[in-house]
Amino acid sequence: MTTVIRNADWIVAWDEEELSHIYLRGGDVAWRDGAIVQVGRRYEGEADKELSGRGRMVMPGLVNLHTHPSTMPAFKSVREELGNPQLYLSALYDGWNLFTPDPEDKVWAARYAYGEMLLSGVTSYVDMCFPFPGWVDAAAESGLRSFLAPLYQSSSWRTDNGHELLYDWKEDDGRADMDEAIGVLDAAIGHNSGLLHGVVAPMAIDTCSLALIRESLDMARDRDLPFQLHAGEAMMEFLEITRRHGVSQVQLLAREKMLGPDVTLGHGLFLDHHSWLHWSSRADIGLLADYETSVAHCPTPFSRYGITMEHLGKYIEAGINMGIGTDTHPHNMLEEMRTAAIMCRVAAQNMHAVTTADVFTAATVGGARALKREDIGRLETGAKADVVSVAIDDPIMMPVYDPIRSLIYTAADRAVRDVWVHGRQVVGDGEVLTLDMTTIASHLQEAQMRALEKVPQRDRLGRNALQVAPLTFRTRRQH
Ligand SMILES: [Zn+2]
Repeated sequence: MTTVIRNADWIVAWDEEELSHIYLRGGDVAWRDGAIVQVGRRYEGEADKELSGRGRMVMPGLVNLHTHPSTMPAFKSVREELGNPQLYLSALYDGWNLFTPDPEDKVWAARYAYGEMLLSGVTSYVDMCFPFPGWVDAAAESGLRSFLAPLYQSSSWRTDNGHELLYDWKEDDGRADMDEAIGVLDAAIGHNSGLLHGVVAPMAIDTCSLALIRESLDMARDRDLPFQLHAGEAMMEFLEITRRHGVSQVQLLAREKMLGPDVTLGHGLFLDHHSWLHWSSRADIGLLADYETSVAHCPTPFSRYGITMEHLGKYIEAGINMGIGTDTHPHNMLEEMRTAAIMCRVAAQNMHAVTTADVFTAATVGGARALKREDIGRLETGAKADVVSVAIDDPIMMPVYDPIRSLIYTAADRAVRDVWVHGRQVVGDGEVLTLDMTTIASHLQEAQMRALEKVPQRDRLGRNALQVAPLTFRTRRQH
């Protein structure tokens, strides 16, 4: 089955000589089954399906390097303004478990996130969840290229008084949970869709023992799988790691020989140079670059806390491979790219600290490199047919001088029309074809209500949801 988009107004093509995306004005994009066979010029071969590229920009599918689909959509409109002022504004420690959906409801959150991603042009993503019922099948049904990253850990966070962070260490150091995660990895890798892959992902540098992290990395290297670990995510994590080990997270990982081109750090934000820390060394960015380690940058949740990476442009300039992830809701990769650009420029106090090309590169080939893939995140012959078609004639995109700028700074998902993953169309005319978003949203609404009812049993002070997360305005009932 060969599909060709004829005479696209713009193509974001990969140039192997420049090692960069470039714009092509006019030309065809053709793919056969799951692989691209031509980018640019006129495709003269046989085609089963021809689509007009008039009024369209054809670009590579985006690579979302860090997501938590089974929970984050259920937190929408609840958690945006929650953060603990006695734990450096993070909501990780006492705001998270309060609103987590029931295990059997998590699949609805996940499906919702998958739909959001597709609508914003994501075709590959890293799915970092504690295993839940129905996960593998739901990921496969979405039609996305899924990198399942089942989470496990040696301990979990707890606070009894709201200002002291405690760790509940498991007797087996998380080994049983790691075994369960390996089962999910095997199910993903062996899945007959061919679109499921695996990432080894012990949860976080402070919740996992060094022994568990080492065993995990050894397994990843034995099985040639990418590896991702939350590190540099929170002030409390930095304080805990320096308390335990006397050095920053990155310096600890370097000392333990746990950095490398197969390693991605989730967030990598609170590194030794960050202004909140006033730490004495300035080694972390250089170490990550030296070890060719990747960072999954997710600006949105931090920006809501009043926190930002300092700064994306500095990391890129140092030579760190940067990817972008949505982490929280919305799973809108295009808006995430806008936030990444803006937060960098604010942190740097310099609009030239990062370019739109830097951000687009991170969201495509940067994420792909972190996943050890050269066949996604780019449009070139032989790459996977993960293709996004954007309507540049939609009023939201117009006037168009530079379509990527119109897309990132203004239109975002509203201009995404058609998406193909491995040659299969998964978004058509702006609608998800693989998922019924209306039904999913109503299930998610019910799942959120069930979780909200449980808040008083989960909250250490017995507060209800409205007390923990007050509404925007005082409410006066009229009936
Ligand atoms: Zn995360």
